[in-house]
Amino acid sequence: MQNEHMAGAILRIDLDALATNYHVIQRQVAPARVAGVIKADAYGLGAVPVAKALLQAGCRHFFVAHLGEAAALRRALPAGTPVFVLNGLHPGAEQECAAIGATPVLNSLDQIARWAECARRLGQSLPAALQFDSGMSRLGLPLQEVETLVAERSRLSGIDLTLLMSHLACADDPDALFNAQQRMSFQTVSRHFPGVPRSLDNSGGSFLDRCHFDVVRAGIGLYGGAPQKVGNPMRPVVSLEARIIQLRNVPAGAAVGYGLTHRCIRPTRIATIPVGYADGWPRHLSNKGSAFIAGQRVPIAGRVSMDSITLDVTDVPERLLYPDAAVELLGPHQSVDDVAADAGTISYEILTQLGRRYHRDYHAAPAAELQRSIRA
Ligand SMILES: *Cc1c(COP(=O)(O)O)cnc(C)c1O
Repeated sequence: MQNEHMAGAILRIDLDALATNYHVIQRQVAPARVAGVIKADAYGLGAVPVAKALLQAGCRHFFVAHLGEAAALRRALPAGTPVFVLNGLHPGAEQECAAIGATPVLNSLDQIARWAECARRLGQSLPAALQFDSGMSRLGLPLQEVETLVAERSRLSGIDLTLLMSHLACADDPDALFNAQQRMSFQTVSRHFPGVPRSLDNSGGSFLDRCHFDVVRAGIGLYGGAPQKVGNPMRPVVSLEARIIQLRNVPAGAAVGYGLTHRCIRPTRIATIPVGYADGWPRHLSNKGSAFIAGQRVPIAGRVSMDSITLDVTDVPERLLYPDAAVELLGPHQSVDDVAADAGTISYEILTQLGRRYHRDYHAAPAAELQRSIRA
């Protein structure tokens, strides 16, 4: 969107808070290094500006999900900065992956064979991460394949292993016993590859009370979401502000919105704002979610439409209600995790669905201030 008058709402992304969160996690896991997980356009916040801010904060490793995301990022990062592709190496994508200079996360013997073959054909060694499945049953080599690999090491010839990794299934729950099991399994398997840096933890894992190996792959915590179920040490990064586009008085007994699902039991003041499910505001928040006007909670009345939401503002002082008055959807009174809880989902989904129609405003403090916050 060109400017804020053309958009339904302003999405502010605080790159300072992002840098602060990077340092919070970095301090938590030192001497391990924090890598930035910037898949899905940095969880909806914008991969390129986020990558640049993380780079300035000291981040030197980046993770994306797809090769296409790595290609888009390459141009924004200094040559030689590793960009890991979590979803692995698709058949036929080997040459392109090498040409882009991305580091595939190899998840199977087949992927290893194809990457080794590509290295042989190019006559050069190629970097790769190796992922083990330590119990999540999603991606990575199962134990039998690891045994085969350990017995036949030549399968790795031409491959420069730069990282061993696995992924925790329950890192958001410090009480889950499975965290320790996965850690042990990862530790055991990685002993077969001495000297290669290891990575197990995501944001949640950073706050589990134990060693963090060499690299931590942080996503949600950087973006201000709660890394674990209880408490949130991260600074909010995203705020979303809409403006009232219409106000009306609805008599008692009348109804609001599609399907007339909100029936007014008293004379009701309704404010309409120009944000809807096409902007990633979940339709599940119909008659459930909230917004805030000058810090006062205003419930969503009726269904969330594609391009608009109706709010019950009856209890808000009249002087605060006028066309163009600001309405907080994300901010000091409502976090991404609050919205996720109301919608029955997780902060990751709210962030990654944030609409493309918002006017985006990237805020960063002047360099000097940033430097101070980095040293602090
Ligand atoms: C998405 C992802 C991460 C980042 O997880 P957060 O919980 O957002 O910190 C780390 N590792 C892998 C393999 C992932 O898929």
